[in-house]
Order: sequence, then structure tokens, then C-alpha cells
Amino acid sequence: KGLQVAIDGPASAGKSTVAKLVAKKFNYVYCDTGAMYRAVTLEVLNQGIDPNDEKAIAEIARQVKIDFEPGESEQRVFLNGEEVTHAIRLPKVAENVSAIAAVPEVRAEMTRQQRQIAEKGGIVMDGRDIGTTVLPNAPVKIFMVASAYERARRRYVENKAKGIDTTSLEELQKAIELRDKKDSTRKVSPLTQAADAVRLDTTNLTIDEVVDKISQIIKK
Ligand code: C5P
Repeated sequence: KGLQVAIDGPASAGKSTVAKLVAKKFNYVYCDTGAMYRAVTLEVLNQGIDPNDEKAIAEIARQVKIDFEPGESEQRVFLNGEEVTHAIRLPKVAENVSAIAAVPEVRAEMTRQQRQIAEKGGIVMDGRDIGTTVLPNAPVKIFMVASAYERARRRYVENKAKGIDTTSLEELQKAIELRDKKDSTRKVSPLTQAADAVRLDTTNLTIDEVVDKISQIIKK
């Protein structure tokens, strides 16, 4: 048996990198809730649904089957049985995901599925509203932040390393800040720190240092 560990924070703060390592260390399951919202967004785009048609979008969220499978270095994501691990990272998905994630019925359905995944404990779940909404009773809650410049810089370096075609650092920072703004100002469960979450500013910390800090909190 293990604990529920909730890791929230703005875009590209290093949540998934750290969450994966923490999960590995404690032999917990890792769940990337952002990937679920991205998968719904990809399906909406693939079906050519009007991004303003909330009813149709809600229907998609209820119909799609999202599955995770552990992969070599990354977690593999499947949408209706088809692998979308890389497709959900495309800029067109990032640009549209905040609007789709703001639809109340989409959130209700994803929250329901996430609670089911986390039910048995032994889980590290990362997202925007895990500590506030999905798992309000999680014994470990982390709110990870870093300066917008540092977050853009890390993503830039990562994209280059992966051979992903990337825009300029400035453009990346703007896109990240715009997504944070949309996620922080939506009506249902906006991005915000839970009252009982531990705030971790990772701007000047290494990945190992962040993993160590979270590990100490889990062991307490
Ligand atoms: O974590 P990631 O950047 O992949 O998340 C993509 C988007 O999914 C976020 O910008 C946000 O709009 C949405 N999201 C959310 N709630 C979560 C996780 C992600 O609204 N728990």
C-alpha cells in the first residue's frame, strides 16, 4: 500500500519529470492527468469539432478511451486503442487544450476517471487541480513552480534534444504564460495552490534535489 501524492503547478515546471522519478523510487503508479486532457483535445481536433461546441466536446470526453502503459523512458498514451504518445505533444494540441479543459463536463469526466485510477493509493498524479479537486484528501501535496523564463528555457532545451521543431525561446515563454493564464482564470477548478500544499520553487534546483525534497515529505 502507498500514499496518494498530488503534484500540481503551472506548465513546464518539471512536474512530470519529477513525478515519474518519485513514482519509480517508491514503486508507485504515475498518472499524467495533462495527457488525458490532451488526448480529449486531440480527438476533438481529429473529428473537426467546433471548439465552441461544448455539448459535442463533453460527449467526446465521455466516449474516448484513454489508457496508459509504461514505456522505455516515457509513459505511453493510447486513445481509443491507438498510440498518441507523441501526437498529444504537438503545438496544435497545446494551443487548444486549455479551452477544452475549461469545459465543466470534460473536467467532471476526467476527475471521475482520475479518482478511480488513484483509488487504491500508491500513486503520483500530476496536473493542475489534483490537490484542490481530484484528491483533496491526499496526504502529500506539492505545488511546483519556477520562473516563466526558466520553464521556457528547460522546454526549449528538451525540444532541441528530442529533435522537436521548436519556436524561439521568447515565443515558447509567451505560449507557456498564455496557457497558465487560461488555466488560472477558468471557472471550474482553476490552477491554484491548495491551502495544505507544500510550495517548491524549482528555478534554482536540480531534478535530483526536487525528487529528494518530495521523497522526504513522503517518508515523514
Ligand atoms: O500538464 P500538461 O501541460 O500536459 O497539461 C495540459 C493542459 O491540460 C493544461 O494546460 C490544462 O489546460 C489541462 N489540465 C487541467 N487539469 C489537470 C491537468 C491538465 O486542466 N489536472
